[in-house]
Amino acid sequence: MKYKHLFGPVPSRRLGISLGVDLVPHKVCSLNCVYCEVGRTTNLTIDRKEYIPLQDILDELKHYLDQDPNLDYITFSGAGEPLLHNGIGKIISFIKDNYPQYKLALLTNSTLLYDEQVRAEIMEIDLLLPSLDAVSDEVFRKLNRPNPKLDNKRIIEGLIQFRKDFTGTIWLEIFIVPGLNDTQEELTSLKNAIKSIAPDQVQLNTLDRPGTESWIAPVSQNRMEEIAEFLKPLPVMIIANFQSRNKIRSYHKNIEEQIIETIKRRPCTDQDLSEMLGIHINEINKYLSELLHEGMVTSEQQKRGTFFRAK
Ligand code: SF4
Repeated sequence: MKYKHLFGPVPSRRLGISLGVDLVPHKVCSLNCVYCEVGRTTNLTIDRKEYIPLQDILDELKHYLDQDPNLDYITFSGAGEPLLHNGIGKIISFIKDNYPQYKLALLTNSTLLYDEQVRAEIMEIDLLLPSLDAVSDEVFRKLNRPNPKLDNKRIIEGLIQFRKDFTGTIWLEIFIVPGLNDTQEELTSLKNAIKSIAPDQVQLNTLDRPGTESWIAPVSQNRMEEIAEFLKPLPVMIIANFQSRNKIRSYHKNIEEQIIETIKRRPCTDQDLSEMLGIHINEINKYLSELLHEGMVTSEQQKRGTFFRAK
């Protein structure tokens, strides 16, 4: 069976061997973050719908999981916001009822957690990885460029409420963008908000490859350490690039080779690579991040997007 909505297992520093489940088409999202690695949002929406037929996703999961694969997590993520799919609750129940041996993780931008119905649908997952990059309306709008109907105060309240009701683990991610959310004022607001949310861990991330907007710079290791220090005693860690790719389980050398061979011939965007190699764009992006970090690949911003070439 050729899977259209499952991808990987992808090389993941945080989740080990993780099978990705993509629930929305490319860039259907409630945010349009300046740092997004998978391009600009083409459908900026908060409407929950059956963007992909529920039965198609269940059929793929059944086919894959019946083979008894070795996985650390099944992860709802993708090139958009997974909670926009209104069948996510049914998908979670399907896996938990039929394949209880697998743990479920959800990567979300948190924007729909203000909705009680959404929170109830995902209560059975094991690990929530929500993002929160800003507290002030000004920074939220500049950095995350949300659907206009979204209100960040309600989003933070949703996170606080979910923490109260949920017995699983929460790793909250903050993506630091210099000049936007690394000011003393914003970091202080973030620290206070996160204290109220009380996640099990706070994970700091920064750009390790070109984002949607070319003006964004990564944060230096020193500055990341200063920010981590400031956020203590919150349980904070820096997740950007702390491990060599050779230590990441489920890193497939053959996929790395296919990517290198292709971009040796001509520079490509992540989308080109995904189409040419028949590999999900998120999976391609995971490999490109590692290769950039190791200096094996360079990137260049052009009209059609970011192009990657082998060094
Ligand atoms: S980073 Fe995530 S939340 Fe932000 S635009 Fe990209 S897919 Fe959406």
